Amino acid sequence: MAVALFCGPVDIAQREARAAQAEQFVRTTLAERGISVVATTFVDNSGITRVKSVPMRRLPHLAAWGVGASTSFDYFRFDDWLAAPPGGTAPVGDLRVIPDLGRLVPLAAQPGWAWTPGDRYRQDGEPHDCCNRLLLQRLVDHAAAQSLEIKAAFELEWVVSAGDGDDFASAAPGPAYGMSRLVDVSEYARDLIEALSAEAIKVEQFHPEYAAGQLELSVAAESPVDAADTSVLVRNTIRAVGRRYDYRTSFSPKVEADDVGNGGHVHLSVWRDGENLMAGGKGRYGLAPVGEAFSAGILNRLPALLALGAPSVASYLRLVPSHWAGVYACWGLENREAALRMINGSAGSSDWAANLEVKCVDLTANPYLLLAGLLAAGLDGVAAGKRLPEPVDVDPAALAPDELERRGIRRLPTTLRESTDALAADPVLRNALGSALLDSVLTVRESEIGLFAEASAEEVVRAFRWTH
Ligand code: GLU
Ligand code: MG
Repeated sequence: MAVALFCGPVDIAQREARAAQAEQFVRTTLAERGISVVATTFVDNSGITRVKSVPMRRLPHLAAWGVGASTSFDYFRFDDWLAAPPGGTAPVGDLRVIPDLGRLVPLAAQPGWAWTPGDRYRQDGEPHDCCNRLLLQRLVDHAAAQSLEIKAAFELEWVVSAGDGDDFASAAPGPAYGMSRLVDVSEYARDLIEALSAEAIKVEQFHPEYAAGQLELSVAAESPVDAADTSVLVRNTIRAVGRRYDYRTSFSPKVEADDVGNGGHVHLSVWRDGENLMAGGKGRYGLAPVGEAFSAGILNRLPALLALGAPSVASYLRLVPSHWAGVYACWGLENREAALRMINGSAGSSDWAANLEVKCVDLTANPYLLLAGLLAAGLDGVAAGKRLPEPVDVDPAALAPDELERRGIRRLPTTLRESTDALAADPVLRNALGSALLDSVLTVRESEIGLFAEASAEEVVRAFRWTH
């Protein structure tokens, strides 16, 4: 019996198959690698990765029956405060986090530990209706039913800070993109890339980024659930390698109020029968009709999608013009100031390289929830045969207000209030996420908006500097 990620209820036969597979892992891979503890994670609505762990001998039990986790995790805020849902039901009830053994990875920078992503099920074996990882798999299945395959990758930006202080003290000095910055962190960067390779992560490139102490790493595109899992694993590994160098790691959208922020751009392509539909067509820049409609579906819903992809009050400190964060709702070929940057690749490479980069999103996002939203919006665009407007080939911030108006280019939401209201009013995303999950997201967002109602930018920056 297949025990790969499965969205239906878990029955006894499933549980037995999962336990047998876990026993096999315990005897082989895990014994060989000296693993003694397994961590299983899920990501909450505020983008925090939460964890439960078991001794290795307990893995078969974990695989079959999961480990308990309160339903209240759906209401956890980034600062561990519980956003009280209406009705007072959050503290009542228990779920089971069941590991996906298909993604069991010995952790290279935490000797003796292995990791798996987890899915949340009810005690009766039914999927939990707020499990964002199972939701994403359902959307992948929905695309597959139309013979469409989505490939995705998260681009990760972070900063390293020296020591344990709460203030930011760059541990990677030197100029943006500078070789001298790389020299200063070369052992750390080597250890990191080696650790990721040992975890079977396909690193594509690494470089010093623009902001003080900022670095960036990109990985190969893969199926959406794998891409979200990879982003969790890679961030965990970056943090763990950093500990060895006495670095503090921050993926916060704004580490310092007056510097460029950390993005968490998402790269997407749509494929059918092994053909990349972002290329090879007769549309603008070679887009095939499905690739165009998928992109248009995302463009149409960007204000609401920001409540998933730029989900914190700190996100809006990053979303300022002319910072390569893509704060205008438009698209353009290789335009780093458009929310959607179309990438065609070099001549001859478009068939495999063409993809759409969603730039306006950051790493306070829950990667499963964000990809679920992007797939839902894109697939809605495909179902409706949507077309893209004229592309934009200039920084929209350089256009006069009447020219922006004439071209129909709008600024994206500038506050979490605006994007949350757009999400609350979006029927396509409500239908895709389901009301239980959508309402839990909205409850967490409302609580965070209230928390920072009177806060200065500096207070927001400090509150998020070390949480993500
Ligand atoms: N750091 C920029 C951001 O906030 C992105 C820079 C880039 O284009 O890679 O998204
Ligand atoms: Mg970058």
